[in-house]
Amino acid sequence: MRLEELIKLRRDFHKYAEAGWCEFRTTSVIAEFLSNLGYDVKVGREILDESSVMGRDESVIPKEIERATKQGADPKWIERMAGYTGALAVLNTGKKGPTVALRFDIDAVEVNEAKDDKHRPYREGFSSVNPGAMHACGHDGHAAIGLGVARLLAEKKDSLRGKIKLIFQPAEEGVRGGKAIAEKGILDDCDFLVALHLGLGLSTGNMAGGVAGLLCTTKFDVFYKGKASHAGAAPNEGRNALLGAANAAINLHGIAPHRNGTSRVNVGVLHAGEGRNVVPPHAMFKVETRGETEEIASYMYQRAMKIVESCALMYELEWTVKQMGESITAKSDEDLVGLICKVAKETGEFDSIESFYNMGGSDDFSWMMKRVQEKGGKASYMVLGSDIEAGHHNEYFDFDERSLLKGVVLMSQLVEKLSRFES
Ligand SMILES: [Zn+2]
Ligand SMILES: [Zn+2]
Repeated sequence: MRLEELIKLRRDFHKYAEAGWCEFRTTSVIAEFLSNLGYDVKVGREILDESSVMGRDESVIPKEIERATKQGADPKWIERMAGYTGALAVLNTGKKGPTVALRFDIDAVEVNEAKDDKHRPYREGFSSVNPGAMHACGHDGHAAIGLGVARLLAEKKDSLRGKIKLIFQPAEEGVRGGKAIAEKGILDDCDFLVALHLGLGLSTGNMAGGVAGLLCTTKFDVFYKGKASHAGAAPNEGRNALLGAANAAINLHGIAPHRNGTSRVNVGVLHAGEGRNVVPPHAMFKVETRGETEEIASYMYQRAMKIVESCALMYELEWTVKQMGESITAKSDEDLVGLICKVAKETGEFDSIESFYNMGGSDDFSWMMKRVQEKGGKASYMVLGSDIEAGHHNEYFDFDERSLLKGVVLMSQLVEKLSRFES
C-alpha cells in the first residue's frame, strides 16, 4: 500500500463528508472495496442493534440516501444497508487462532468547512461538497487507514491465523453509534479489540499504545415551549422561551466542578425566537455533560437537569428533554498496551512511544471495549500522532497525511502479531 493511494482514499472521503447516520456513500465505498478484497461484508442493519441506536433523525434519511446515490453510492449496497450505515468485514483464515477486531469510525463533524485558500482541502479541491458536514476530526483518515490495513491483511492471509474483523462504525460524533454495535453481539467472540485516533495533540511520529481518562458523557436536546404574544401591545401575555433557554445556557456553564475529578459541560447550539416583535414561544438547545467517573458524570447530568427544569419554571415554559447520545469510560488493558508499544517500536515508524495518553475526551468505542473485556477479551484505544492545522472540530482542521501510512503499518503488524498469539 503506497502513501499516495491512502491519500487518494482519504481525500475522497473528505470531499464527500457525511455526518453520523448519513454515511451512505462512505459505507458503500468501504463495502465495495472490502468485498473486492474477498472479505465477507455486512452493512447497516445487519451489524446494529436498532434499540441501542441514539441520535438518529429518521426524517432526513430518504433525502440523505438520494444525495449519497447522486454522489456515487452503489444502489446494491444502499439496499442492503436498509436505512442504516456502517460496515463489518470478516476475514476467516480457516486456521485455528484468536479473533482480532479493529474499529474505524467513519463519520464527519457537523460543521461547515472553511472556504479559504490557506486551508489545504479547499486550495487543493477536496474540501467537503456537503454543507454542514466536514471531516474535522480525522475520521476520513481512519477510514482510509482501515482500507489500507484490509488490503495488506488480505494479501497476507496465508500467514495469518484465526479471524480478523474490521468494523467501520457510523455516528461516533455525539457518541451515538458505538453502543448499537456493541449490543448487537458481533464482537462477542473477540480476543483482541483495538482502535486508533489521529491527532489529539500528539504530533507526527509520536504514538500512544493506550489511553486513560476517556470521559463518560451524556448528550441531550432540550425543547422549551412558551407562548407567543405581541411584544409591544401584550408582552405580559407571552411566555418567553428564549430567555428561559438563555438563562439555562448561562447557568449550565456555571455548574460547580466536582472535587473528585474532571467534569465538563457545553451548550453547543441554541435556537430560539421567530420575529423581532414577537415574544419568543419556542427554544431548543443542545447540551453535553461529561465526567471522569460515572459518579461525576451523573452529578453533572443531575445538576444540568435541575437547571433545565428550574429555568422552565421561572418562565412558565413546558419542557422536554431528548436523549441523543451516551458513552461510558473505559480503560485500555495494560498487557495489550505493552504489546502494542513493542510492535510500534519494531515498525521503526515512531520517534516517541508512550503507554497511556490522557485524552480528556469521549469516544463511544468504550461501549465495545467494555463488551469485549466483560467477555474476557483485551481492548485498547491507541493514539496515532499527526500534526494538525487547527483543533479537532474546527473548520480549518487538517492533518499530516504522512501519518496515514504509519497507521497502516502499525495496525497491520499488530494484527499479524496478535493473530499468532497463543494463550
Ligand atoms: Zn474523532
Ligand atoms: Zn470528534
